[in-house]
Amino acid sequence: MIATAKSTLDELCAFVRETAMLESIQSLLEWDERTKMPVQAGEYRAEQITYLSGMIHQRRTDPRIEQWLDELVASPLADDPHSDIGTTARQLRRDYDRRTRLPQSLVEALTRQSVLGQQAWVKAREENNFRAFRPCLEEMIRLKKEQAAAIGFCSQPYDALLDEYEPGESTERVAAILAGLREQLSPLVAEVVATGKQAPIEILRREYPTSKQEAFGQAVAARIGFSFERGRLDVTHHPFCSGMGPHDCRITTRYDAHFFPSAFFGILHEAGHGIYDQGLRSEQYGLPPGSYVSLGIHESQSRLWENFVGRNYSFWRYFFPQAQAAFPSALAGVRLEEFYFAINQVQPSLIRVEADEATYNLHIIVRFELEQALIRGDLVVADLPAAWREKYREYLGIEPADDADGVLQDIHWSAGLFGYFPTYLLGNLYAAQFYDAADRQLGGLEGLFAQGEFEPLLLWLRHNIHQQGQCYSPGELALRVSGQPLAPTALMGHLRRKLAPLYGIRCG
Ligand code: ZN
Repeated sequence: MIATAKSTLDELCAFVRETAMLESIQSLLEWDERTKMPVQAGEYRAEQITYLSGMIHQRRTDPRIEQWLDELVASPLADDPHSDIGTTARQLRRDYDRRTRLPQSLVEALTRQSVLGQQAWVKAREENNFRAFRPCLEEMIRLKKEQAAAIGFCSQPYDALLDEYEPGESTERVAAILAGLREQLSPLVAEVVATGKQAPIEILRREYPTSKQEAFGQAVAARIGFSFERGRLDVTHHPFCSGMGPHDCRITTRYDAHFFPSAFFGILHEAGHGIYDQGLRSEQYGLPPGSYVSLGIHESQSRLWENFVGRNYSFWRYFFPQAQAAFPSALAGVRLEEFYFAINQVQPSLIRVEADEATYNLHIIVRFELEQALIRGDLVVADLPAAWREKYREYLGIEPADDADGVLQDIHWSAGLFGYFPTYLLGNLYAAQFYDAADRQLGGLEGLFAQGEFEPLLLWLRHNIHQQGQCYSPGELALRVSGQPLAPTALMGHLRRKLAPLYGIRCG
């Protein structure tokens, strides 16, 4: 019995690994398309990718998978749900079920609407014309409701959409956590604004030659643990991180010669994603124990290195002299305290991707509440721009003058990504809890950072998070690693401790 189950497992894993190889080839084609490909190659590249996608979809929904899984779970091999085999069986079943529940016609309709939606969005945003985008968004929402119904859900359709990115999470739980965060964060931001204190951000807008930024960013990324022997850094419009094999993870950034933070913190962010990718177990590549567990946990790794480490005072005690040497004309006479305040400025703004570490979360809460209402049917698309403005007024104290800087600023909804936004915020919450746990267990991280020592934190993340793959759900992982279920407490504590001395506000 065990011997047969063992050979079933081998067959299943070989099949899934082969599919993962096809996916890695697709990633490589997509990376090339976004970084190096000549313009006129676009059409044929689309054909190549569509061809591969079709092949991958066929393999991922191959009925043999179900047979193999049925045989496997009937044996004792997969009994322990957190073992590698148990995890493989559970997660492959989840993936198979989700994919096979969707009728082919719906998959095609969603793909088509996503392409059309993104095209319409680009134009509508340029022309600041929400009305032109409205029919596309309405159609997409109709399809997403259909998708949720086909997949199935516990209490509301949004559950099915959220579950795609954050397995095991429920709308109700996330809504409660985010509402709890908003109740504390909105007043904190208002308190900061009321001080009228301005950080010296002019420092960051001086001359930072691109080639120097690249060298400095690369050196810092390597120092914190991103391996350039198993990865690389290139330039793109929209920065991303993409894995294309167990030893090949590539990150990208964009440079602004007159604004230091965008490339530098962008590199730290993507390197954080890359460090997670490089920390997955390579011998399990393509299988669930060697795969990332959720978008929220992935984002926790990027935010941890970008914000908790990269915007930490001790980090800059170590790196600031190097930055001054790299950018003498910009930073020669600048004090570390001034620079630190500048990179930690908090100010409500309209654009999510430019937001600071604190207000960023409010941008996400606005989107989460609105998209939930859209999927529930409590909000119609025609009323979306007004609802957007109202929430910005309420949570951030500002509102956009037009829709281009408001409801049209993100590509997500046009591409059908509903349930995706909250994972950015979950990432911040997870990061805060992980950071606190590492700080406790390693006996204080700041002392290490000030010495340029990042390896203890890296190894801690490797052991506690990266090498766990999908063996635990994101919620289980948070509980195991931090001893606490996910809550706003750690993130609020972090923000208050940082902002109190900078803005002269109360600490608790
Ligand atoms: Zn990210």
